[in-house]
Amino acid sequence: MNITVCIKQVPDPNQPYKLSGTRLDREAVQPVLDPGDEFGVEAGLKLAEAHGGEVTVLSMGPAKAMEAMRRALSMGAHKGILVSDEALAGADAQATAQVLAAAIKRNPFDLVIAGTESADGSTGAVPAMIAELLGVPQATFAKQLEVKEGTLTIHRQTQEGYDVVECALPAVLTVTSGVNEPRYPTFKGIMQAKNKPVEQLSAADLGLSVAASQQVAAVNPAPARGQGEIFEDDGTGAARIADFLKNAKVI
Ligand SMILES: Cc1cc2nc3c(=O)[nH]c(=O)nc-3n(C[C@H](O)[C@H](O)[C@H](O)COP(=O)(O)OP(=O)(O)OC[C@H]3O[C@@H](n4cnc5c(N)ncnc54)[C@H](O)[C@@H]3O)c2cc1C
Repeated sequence: MNITVCIKQVPDPNQPYKLSGTRLDREAVQPVLDPGDEFGVEAGLKLAEAHGGEVTVLSMGPAKAMEAMRRALSMGAHKGILVSDEALAGADAQATAQVLAAAIKRNPFDLVIAGTESADGSTGAVPAMIAELLGVPQATFAKQLEVKEGTLTIHRQTQEGYDVVECALPAVLTVTSGVNEPRYPTFKGIMQAKNKPVEQLSAADLGLSVAASQQVAAVNPAPARGQGEIFEDDGTGAARIADFLKNAKVI
């Protein structure tokens, strides 16, 4: 199988963010491979181990994104493609999908794997747009997956449980964080990653000149949390809590 896993470098989600205008101050926070995309890399590696083939990791980002790529390669991915071009800085989800789809379709592919949403931008829109641009089906929110005789079958996470969804390959798949346990890179893997091939492309190499069609107009702090209600339990406590949860549509 030819598997491409889309990976994004993000500011470490475990560190506090700082804003610079309407954008994140990326210099202020250590960049890491998006933890959500580690599940995608693991899913690709497992499928390649079971069915043969190669895992290519694909990223669009600043030159620094090479560090995230090396992390994915040290987990076991075979090769990488990094699309890096200052002309793409500020790209929105649509422009990103155009770039990633153009990079993917230069070679035959069976499966494209992505996270459900990134830890920073979080639009959750890129994978669906890639599927549309490639003209292939998408199977999303997989918490379990299997490939058999050219068909992808997933358990698609829902609020109530899961749906079983099937589609023919080639396809785009998004995985949830419950889908597997991403492996840690071994020392050998880290050493091997240094010599694995990474193709570096610009927008012009892909024959693209894309522009963002969206702009962040303003960023406002979330409203401060209101004070909670404190009351003495006079024997009606359980009923009051149940009423409160009912009003909040939690139960
Ligand atoms: C020079 C340069 C600077 C950039 N600076 C920023 C920045 O400051 N902030 C920012 O958020 N983005 C930046 N990007 C990347 C790009 O703008 C975003 O990736 C894009 O807007 C995607 O939106 P999202 O994170 O909401 O995607 P979502 O739809 O939430 O992502 C879902 C999944 O799609 C895949 N995916 C998303 N983006 C990428 C990507 N770039 N490469 C590979 N796979 C991807 C991942 O698998 C991810 O889990 C930069 C890109 C370049 C070239």
